[in-house]
Amino acid sequence: MEKMFFPMQALRVTQGYGVAYGGVKANTYSHAGGYALDLGGADGGADWLFAPCDMVVRRIYGSYNAVWFESLEEIEGVGGTVIMLCLHMNNADREALGMRVGKVFKRGEKCYREGMAGKVTGTHVHLELGRGPMTGTGWAVNAQGVWVINRPLVPSEVFTLGTDVKVVNTGGYAWRRENPEDTALVSSVPAAAAPVIRAGDRVRIRETAVYTDGGRRWGPTYTGGRFRLWFPTYTVRSVQGKRAVLTALGVVAAAVNTRDLEPVNG
Ligand SMILES: [Zn+2]
Repeated sequence: MEKMFFPMQALRVTQGYGVAYGGVKANTYSHAGGYALDLGGADGGADWLFAPCDMVVRRIYGSYNAVWFESLEEIEGVGGTVIMLCLHMNNADREALGMRVGKVFKRGEKCYREGMAGKVTGTHVHLELGRGPMTGTGWAVNAQGVWVINRPLVPSEVFTLGTDVKVVNTGGYAWRRENPEDTALVSSVPAAAAPVIRAGDRVRIRETAVYTDGGRRWGPTYTGGRFRLWFPTYTVRSVQGKRAVLTALGVVAAAVNTRDLEPVNG
């Protein structure tokens, strides 16, 4: 079991999930109905991706220069291997890296670079995660007519954001952090006041909850210049340490500190 670290030196989401998530509206067009991210790295130029864990190339598809990687080990928080799909790599990079099916990249090795292949307006990587093992061609067309990775996972829940990553734009998502004490999971509620929260509980987020994420403070009602959608109640999907993943209307909606949750009775 190992962590899958966020693969770039800067987190800058230029287009988010095509599904409403964590209070962020769904993006449409090329991300409709999936959990894809467009990542632009530091502004300008073509940034590198570094292998987020030891992984092997499972498939390469030419026209959008798509590459499917699979982790060699089970990933923490997933309980299995993870497939990482990246789109838009340029041919020159592909050749320079010796990209071929079966090639292994060790954690931290340069494995991909933002490119311009496919229908692209600027250098970025289109990234999706899916639950392993690799099946079929690795993707399929969804109801919205978009090619989406098989068995999608939510990148902000799976990647661990290292403390050395420069956060430019989180996309509005609460990312899993390497050091939760420093992050979105810092709670303003004292531990002594917190009830025990378990998977399956129905809960609400306390009005007093305030989070810091990428330098922005956000809470249940107002978030540094824009309002978020919060649901009156949630169902706890899982609890890991102090981190509770919440669902609303059957989809994952937020990841918050358990201290900021109140059980709802009845
Ligand atoms: Zn994209």
